[in-house]
Amino acid sequence: MKSLWNDADAQAWIDSAQKDPAAIDLALRVYTSRLIGQEADLVLHGGGNTSVKSRRKDATGVERDVIHVKGSGWDLSSIEGPGLPAMWLDPLLTARDVPNMSDDEMVPFLRAQMLDQSGPNPSVEALLHAFLPAKYVDHTHSCAALAIADQPNAAELARDLFGSTLCVIPYVMPGFKLSHAADRIFQTEGRETGGLFLVNHGLFSHGDDARSSYERIIRYTSMCEDFLDRHGATLMPEETDTFIENPDNHTAVATLRTALSRWDFFGAKGPALDLRISKANSRFLALPDLEEVSARGTATPDHVIRIKPRPMLGFASFDTTDWDRAVKGYADWYEGYFNRHAPLAEEPKTMLDPLPRVALIRGLGIVGIGRNAKEAGIAADLAEQNARIIVSAEALGKFKPLNEAQMFEMEYWSLEQAKLKKAA
Ligand SMILES: [Zn+2]
Repeated sequence: MKSLWNDADAQAWIDSAQKDPAAIDLALRVYTSRLIGQEADLVLHGGGNTSVKSRRKDATGVERDVIHVKGSGWDLSSIEGPGLPAMWLDPLLTARDVPNMSDDEMVPFLRAQMLDQSGPNPSVEALLHAFLPAKYVDHTHSCAALAIADQPNAAELARDLFGSTLCVIPYVMPGFKLSHAADRIFQTEGRETGGLFLVNHGLFSHGDDARSSYERIIRYTSMCEDFLDRHGATLMPEETDTFIENPDNHTAVATLRTALSRWDFFGAKGPALDLRISKANSRFLALPDLEEVSARGTATPDHVIRIKPRPMLGFASFDTTDWDRAVKGYADWYEGYFNRHAPLAEEPKTMLDPLPRVALIRGLGIVGIGRNAKEAGIAADLAEQNARIIVSAEALGKFKPLNEAQMFEMEYWSLEQAKLKKAA
């Protein structure tokens, strides 16, 4: 992967800040955040986050440390200044001494430190960005890194590959717990490193300026790509889908739509479906143990919220009865998954709809499923990315993402459940 940094573009962003040092810091943060957002193999659909530490005057005219962190609801590819809300840094650092904070408590805590209360909620990783001492911090879910991070011996592989360049962090649920755990490990063994390798999750880099932090993420991702190449596990290139206007394709998708439309969840119009056909998808769908491999989980925790813990499987030859059975089978499995894990949660959970967001159709392609075209497109994008990561991971060793209990914790974490309660 190549750096997209361009001096003239960077200068234009600096000029736009009109010599205000804090505005220059933020302008360069916006610039390199967009560079990251442009690469689907680094982040997709709101995944990943970035930050910059700067100085601003408070109401009494005293200059104090602040941190801008990506706000929820913003995409790195199109982020603007207001998408990186600022917080006073010192109060955030006091959270280091707080042994536990629920995510429900963390969100108001972060909001209370915001300079502008009209801004979006800062990312749930805001505290980790604050704890890392460098000025700029970048976090991605790089595909090549995930093919390594989702191995049974991921930590060992990462240590071999990165040596003392990166600090290796075992899997911890994103949010307060991860911020705390990663900070503790960084403080004891990572202070000389250029970033963090998060098992089952992704990469962090940091630097004293926007360019060095950004280019570290590119360098670490390239090191992962080269590692996969050397081990015969090259990440398949992202392809433009080769959708062929074939009446059989329409029939296959139409029968799936009919089966899904029987469920109220998708409303009167039925679901939106997004069929993707490509060489990479065909290679994934031809894996002999596809059913077992694809049921292992999503490549990074974020994805489970959009595509559920596993896809539904079928064949191009399926008729509506076959799909009815497949959807029912999926819903039964999902209920079982909920009932296995919900009783172990700290607070009561409400089950989400039990329907698939991705259908893997052998002999055809990958289908994203949603209540509208946008949701279906996002599900298809993430499913294709997972497919490429899984093929590489399996070629390298064994694809072993976060486990079912960890996926449940992510899919049903309190922040998502709170949104549901509010909607109800
Ligand atoms: Zn992440």
